[in-house]
Amino acid sequence: MKSPPRSPKTPSFSRRRGVVQSPVKSPALFPRRRAVPLAPPKCQAAWRPLEEPIVDKQHWSWLPQWIALHAERGEMKKCWEGHRLLKQSQDGRTFGGCVWCYQRPQAGTQILACRTCRWAVCANCARRPRLPSLDDDPLFHGRDAPCLLPATTIVPETNRGTVIVCPGGNYEFLVPNEGMPAADRLALHGIRAFVLRYRLLPAHTFADMLEDLACAVDHVRRTHGGPVAAMGFSAGGHLVASLALRAASAPGLPRPLDAQVLVYPCIDGIDWTKPEDCGFFDFDGCFPAAQSLLEGRQALLGGPGFAAPPSFLVASTADEASPPKEHTDPYARALRKKGVLYTYMRRDFGAHGFGVEGGWMDKCVPWLQARGFGCASSMGSSPPAEK
Ligand SMILES: [Zn+2]
Ligand SMILES: [Zn+2]
Repeated sequence: MKSPPRSPKTPSFSRRRGVVQSPVKSPALFPRRRAVPLAPPKCQAAWRPLEEPIVDKQHWSWLPQWIALHAERGEMKKCWEGHRLLKQSQDGRTFGGCVWCYQRPQAGTQILACRTCRWAVCANCARRPRLPSLDDDPLFHGRDAPCLLPATTIVPETNRGTVIVCPGGNYEFLVPNEGMPAADRLALHGIRAFVLRYRLLPAHTFADMLEDLACAVDHVRRTHGGPVAAMGFSAGGHLVASLALRAASAPGLPRPLDAQVLVYPCIDGIDWTKPEDCGFFDFDGCFPAAQSLLEGRQALLGGPGFAAPPSFLVASTADEASPPKEHTDPYARALRKKGVLYTYMRRDFGAHGFGVEGGWMDKCVPWLQARGFGCASSMGSSPPAEK
């Protein structure tokens, strides 16, 4: 897949060096201590509290923008290029509208701004929730140690069902704004949610990643009862959709998902085998290993072996990295042909990587609740009975 362009207003890729990461920790965004280690069969990784980052620190200034996320990570406010934002007065000339809400603060109003990039953030948007810095991000560490990270909000044990959130990241990274913000949004509605940190290329194959998801589903079903759903973004959507194929092809495997939510999923994995489109940061390592991602391609596109639980699909007509015509549309056609219940939200949500923005969550939550997620089970039955 092409590297997902980030909205809003993603400037050109920067190779500027020497960005200092914020040393401040954000405890609310850092649930690593409550992480549930997963031990899928054949996974040799020993669980270590201090894990290695996915990319050595010396190479961090070369990371793609959509994982560096200078403007969103850490306590120190920065522009998209990684320059520190300073308090400025909106003078009506130097700075235009706010990069987040597009509103133009009145002249004389205090804003945060970068003079180099003419980047302005209004006072309101300066209070947006922050993502953890690279140093603090559990999704940027422990590449060999799969785990479940619980949502910040704890949901009563009597609430039925669990959603496992699988962030995207081209199977090379895990994008933080497709992880905890989604899990937290669900948990605020009483739906128990975890973020799955699954293993990644190039050290691991697609079979390993699927094993991590299967192991996570099995774990939450044993611990909290059913139903169990997974919500996957981008490459994570490909992973989630592939689980049903695996279960259909090999009877006897643990029970797969009761529902799935696929958000701008990369259904057709063919781009991962095209050097110009794969978008890998570590091309030499990931490109050969990405061949494993094509397993099940024809089935996902509606060929023999297609299988899926009830599905909620989200795709943006402005998405150039995973255009709905090539990815979500064929999947929706396959669902219809197979008679699987589905809801498809297809409109202009903006460029690839819009995460939980755009209002689709407001429809997705009731869809999950109608399937028993987040509903209080009758007193005394613990864990709740599965359908
Ligand atoms: Zn704003
Ligand atoms: Zn700047």
